[in-house]
Amino acid sequence: MSGYSKIVVAVDLSTESAIIMKRALDVAASESEIHLIYVQEPMDSVYMGVVPYGPVFVGMDEVEENLKAELTQKLNNIADEFNIAPDSRHFLNGTPAREIHRFAEENGMDLIVLGTHGQKGVKLLLGATANSVLHGSNCDVLAVRIFDAD
Ligand code: AMP
Repeated sequence: MSGYSKIVVAVDLSTESAIIMKRALDVAASESEIHLIYVQEPMDSVYMGVVPYGPVFVGMDEVEENLKAELTQKLNNIADEFNIAPDSRHFLNGTPAREIHRFAEENGMDLIVLGTHGQKGVKLLLGATANSVLHGSNCDVLAVRIFDAD
């Protein structure tokens, strides 16, 4: 039986989210509390580096709101598929690794589950988000290996 009673699963809403959820359920006990989170990064920090500041930013709030509605629907679809209760679905804003840490600490989670892409050779073992979450986390972290198609 798993000793984890409060598990947070971080997903980027891609198709790999289902693989990560399944692994989280594998290590969860029947009475475990499971939370699902997605963190939306502010659009200015996503695009500022590649798009010059200017008229292109007019209406960005609306674009961001539309995107949020679309992403919330995706989060709900995944949560529905795995029977995650509405109050255990969390749509957060900010930097993914920072918000995942914050959520885990503020809510007393004892396990964080996320994905990491398989890397070939002796290169990086973990992706950027998994690496940042692992370093500085106060609880256990399960990094689920996602094998990319060649
Ligand atoms: P990455 O380092 O971007 O390849 O992401 C590795 C893993 O971190 C993903 O498989 C997710 O489990 C998690 N993750 C990445 N981005 C987000 C996000 N915006 N919100 C929640 N979890 C995320």
